[in-house]
Amino acid sequence: MEKKTRQLKRIYSSFEKETKGYRDKQACEKGCAYCCSEAGSIDITTIEGLQIRNTMKNFPKPRQKALTKIFQKEIKKREKGINVPCPFLMRSKACMIYEVRPLSCRRIYSYHTCTKEKPPEISRQVMKIADQSIKKLQQLDDTGYSGHLSYILYMLSTPAFYQTYINGDFKPEEIMVFGKSHKIIINKMMI
Ligand code: SF4
Repeated sequence: MEKKTRQLKRIYSSFEKETKGYRDKQACEKGCAYCCSEAGSIDITTIEGLQIRNTMKNFPKPRQKALTKIFQKEIKKREKGINVPCPFLMRSKACMIYEVRPLSCRRIYSYHTCTKEKPPEISRQVMKIADQSIKKLQQLDDTGYSGHLSYILYMLSTPAFYQTYINGDFKPEEIMVFGKSHKIIINKMMI
């Protein structure tokens, strides 16, 4: 897993290098967080989820407890089709996991300040590079899955699933029911 995590960081950094020229013109600034507040599906791979989970383990205990509750509430609302702000968005509008935020978040920026009427405007070229980078992530995470952040983190919090994944085993039958009802993608099928 350590080797995979290093490769994951390389994919992030080459995405950022390749798209720098486009993102230099962005209107996004600290404290905006429009995308994080109006969060639709923040899709991540299990390898990204693992990195986020490891970061969360270093949070102070009260924050870990609070996050567990927020995630439970977020999942319940999501099941009812209600979009809620990302659980990692702090009151200060900063991201709690900024250093390890997933590619889904890294790829979003906008050339103008966003509002409900004026959603983010992103270069097609950046979206294309992002799609290629996601493919690379799925290839790297070939025993894993992709899906909304909360669902992947939930799967990783399940001891049986976590052990299978950490061992590098591939047992999609373990998550068959949950996977189907939560639009979880098997990475192997995307590569
Ligand atoms: S993980 Fe961070 S950057 Fe991504 S939506 Fe959540 S708060 Fe925003």
